[in-house]
Amino acid sequence: MALKVQRYFLPESFQNYNHLVWSAEHKTAAVIDPFDWAAAEHEAQQLGVHLQEIWLTHGHGDHIRGVPANFSGRIIGHVDLASQLNITQPVDQATSFEFAGERIEVLLTPGHIPDHICFFLPNVPALIAGDTLFNAGVGNTRSGDTPTLYRSIQRLKKLPAETQVYNGHDYFLTNLKFTESVVGSTEITRHWISQCEKATPDTRPITTIGDELQYNLFLNTEREEIIKSLDKQGFKTDSSESTFAALRNLRDQW
Ligand SMILES: [Zn+2]
Repeated sequence: MALKVQRYFLPESFQNYNHLVWSAEHKTAAVIDPFDWAAAEHEAQQLGVHLQEIWLTHGHGDHIRGVPANFSGRIIGHVDLASQLNITQPVDQATSFEFAGERIEVLLTPGHIPDHICFFLPNVPALIAGDTLFNAGVGNTRSGDTPTLYRSIQRLKKLPAETQVYNGHDYFLTNLKFTESVVGSTEITRHWISQCEKATPDTRPITTIGDELQYNLFLNTEREEIIKSLDKQGFKTDSSESTFAALRNLRDQW
């Protein structure tokens, strides 16, 4: 039986989402980027599974603050986090590991921050994207750099279209409004805005790579209407990469 992903929202946070990857059959779960350990344990308890592993997408404080100092299970994270956390399985290259009898792929996805990795669950399929690919957006590059994020995003774009995208923050509605500020209101932005407005952070739609390819500006840096809008605002758009940088820049100021 395939692994499942349980998303939950942390109300007292920076709009953080946390996730459990869990197996009913093996009665085990891994939490990704725990903001609050008690909340993670509560979710695991609700599902009737044991919280046995921690997987970290990156080292920003809001993604590691719930890691218990005395945790005895496996902790998977980028090798650069090993100086501050007890990473039992440090990662410094694309690799894979086994969890509850299934293979999980680790993708190196720097750009938001150099130590960023994503977890891909091929059998679901699902991507635990951390702060790299958001719904209708991408992560900021204040502690990383935009050309590197561009390259990471090009790789994530190529995952199977049906891959569910799980990311670290509830920014969907804000990002859709940013999208409309660039390309105007369209049938597709109106559809997703209405879906988001009907929902709470806990019930916000879970999208796929195929969905994101339709409306996420950062995945569509060759599209004429985006380039035109950026040109008008005086941005450099002579390549897909510079269009991406212009969008990131505009989003930072928005
Ligand atoms: Zn971050």
